[in-house]
Amino acid sequence: MRWPYDPNARCRTTERRFWLGAMIFLAVALPIDLVEDPLQSAQAGDAHYSGKQGQILVVNVPTDGGVTGVEGTFLGRSLSFFPDTRFEEPKGFVGLIGIDLQDEPGIHELTVKVQAGEQNQTFTYRVQVLKEKFHVERLTLPKNKVDLDEKSLARWQAEQAQVKEMLANDSPTKLWQGGFVEPVAGKRTGIFGSVRVMNGQARNPHNGEDIGAPLGTPVAATNDGVVRLTVDHFFSGKGVFLDHGLGFYSMYFHLDEVLVKDGDVVKAGQIVGKVGASGRATGPHLHWGVKLNGARVNPYALLDLPFKGSVQSAAPVPVTVPGSGVGAPDP
Ligand SMILES: [Zn+2]
Repeated sequence: MRWPYDPNARCRTTERRFWLGAMIFLAVALPIDLVEDPLQSAQAGDAHYSGKQGQILVVNVPTDGGVTGVEGTFLGRSLSFFPDTRFEEPKGFVGLIGIDLQDEPGIHELTVKVQAGEQNQTFTYRVQVLKEKFHVERLTLPKNKVDLDEKSLARWQAEQAQVKEMLANDSPTKLWQGGFVEPVAGKRTGIFGSVRVMNGQARNPHNGEDIGAPLGTPVAATNDGVVRLTVDHFFSGKGVFLDHGLGFYSMYFHLDEVLVKDGDVVKAGQIVGKVGASGRATGPHLHWGVKLNGARVNPYALLDLPFKGSVQSAAPVPVTVPGSGVGAPDP
């Protein structure tokens, strides 16, 4: 029996038909490391895929019409799917799964709920999270930026609460489109996810990528969105949080200057600030971070997503890159 099966519906052939070709296909979006078992049967729910910590999985749900919504859950995080407009006619829904840099390696369940009017069906898939070998980074920073005094600790906690509250209110619609822009075409330090040892003490892993660029280099928005929050925080310094909708945020920290304000609507490539060394940073650089439904992913994974548009990298390439600094929004 195929789902949805409604023996009383004589005139709902379209609704019955939509599901026939429904299947799920996952592809990994960064250094291809996809282990894909043969898809035996989507309805058996035993497809098996994998991606490394910090990567983004693209989940396609081809449908045959009649589907009104698709949503999913992975490791307790809610996933929003959106109509796939990459083709001339809608071919279904697509969603992005972020694998957090600290997601436990191993097999985890991905559940996908497909809604068709009043009816819905849930499918379960197995996703293998592979361990990424992150660097260990040893930093020496001013003592007062590592061992916080009471006042700084209270400030940091209030800032954390502010960010947490902001991230809890996802925009219900997808605001981004087309391809993604590299905010600064500088020198990547490749330290996303690195385990940090500051002044000899182990701290939270580095949750973004640092890009070395001269002071004042323009920083471009990676895609369309809304400026959800501009801050001047203890660790991240002057920063911009862009909301791209459906639980997808990009962050730009340690800026010298913020050129947008809360609530501004920005386009991909629009300059939102200038590279600086504000907050906890050892020199001018951009800390670029991305959160997808709460998962901290490598921002460079965005550039390899199969959503190409006409946008180009807007930030000029710096001629020289003085010693790229590093910093962190978390202690
Ligand atoms: Zn950083």
